[in-house]
Amino acid sequence: MAKRDYYEVLGVSKKATVDEIKKAYRKLAIQYHPDKNPGNKEAEEKFKEATEAYEILSDDKKRAMYDQYGFAGLENMGGGFSGDFRTSHAFHDFEDIFGGFGDIFDNFFGFGGGSSGRRRSSQSNRGADLRYDAEIGLKEAVFGTTVEISYTRNVTCEVCGGSGAEPGSKRKTCPTCQGTGQIRRSTGFFSIAQTCPTCHGEGSIVEKPCRACNGTGLKKKPEKIKVDIPAGIQEGRKLRFPNKGESGQNGGPEGDLYVYIHVKEHPYFARQDDDIVCIVPISFTQAMLGSEIKVRTLDDKLIKLKIPPGTQSGKTLRIRGEGSPNLNNPSQRGDLWIKIKVLYPEKLSPKTKELLQRIAEIEGENLEPQPLPISSWQE
Ligand SMILES: [Zn+2]
Ligand SMILES: [Zn+2]
Repeated sequence: MAKRDYYEVLGVSKKATVDEIKKAYRKLAIQYHPDKNPGNKEAEEKFKEATEAYEILSDDKKRAMYDQYGFAGLENMGGGFSGDFRTSHAFHDFEDIFGGFGDIFDNFFGFGGGSSGRRRSSQSNRGADLRYDAEIGLKEAVFGTTVEISYTRNVTCEVCGGSGAEPGSKRKTCPTCQGTGQIRRSTGFFSIAQTCPTCHGEGSIVEKPCRACNGTGLKKKPEKIKVDIPAGIQEGRKLRFPNKGESGQNGGPEGDLYVYIHVKEHPYFARQDDDIVCIVPISFTQAMLGSEIKVRTLDDKLIKLKIPPGTQSGKTLRIRGEGSPNLNNPSQRGDLWIKIKVLYPEKLSPKTKELLQRIAEIEGENLEPQPLPISSWQE
């Protein structure tokens, strides 16, 4: 199958900054995350494709090579993506993006334990951490909420206690590796030690697999937990639930569950740190003469706001203490900033027109206005 262009995969331009690339990847990775799409091969492929594109485009050297010579350039560098993901910077970025879910890669990129065999030694190993992405509204993020989340995790099989062996049966030396847990494979000049695929590095296999768990030692268990989301939480924050992740191999301790918070965009309000911003329209007469209006806040309160006479379109006015509570110090709240937009009527009644013409006569009109500083373009 022909490979898609990396930029196309991430949906970014060839000039995209590292930040844009990271953002685009994060979005795709969340969308096609295997936890969100269990058993969906297409999503899995998309996830892999995006990760590969990110791995290359987030590395200056590889990106330059790819830009100049395409996929062939990467092969000359030594396979592009075939390097060990764990030692590459992209993996660390990934940990930064996803908070330590390296275990995904064991399953998706065939790093199954590698020479370290860290999840598969015959000791009891800690189970994998799990990630859950929860999306909440801006109002819930600002004022806090409780959500119930459902997910599935692997827990120790209670029939075999996690050993994977049918009760009463024993383990026997692995016939593939004769108990060493490793096999050697020669590739040209080199001989590489690899984790034994039969026993996954344990050196022994069960004589008779446990019927309850097919010898895996783990069983899928649906879970439901209540998540208290504190007021003032920000996009991308994670909440940790100890021991709510996967059970370990051979009855090892459980990993943790991390709930990542995503805040949906609100049509009328946005958040800037602990401040909240919105845009409120007023009429041109209110702007000129001044007025007192009522502004609706994110939590549906109506709050009085004084518009000073002569208010210009684009001016920001502040209502103190109507922003978001601070996550670490909830008694401290940000402010609500209101950007004023002055609306002018598109049609005038004959009477209004007459009055405005009168005003123009009184005030006079400047027919040769001086330009304003160019820095005010964005306002
Ligand atoms: Zn079992
Ligand atoms: Zn073996």
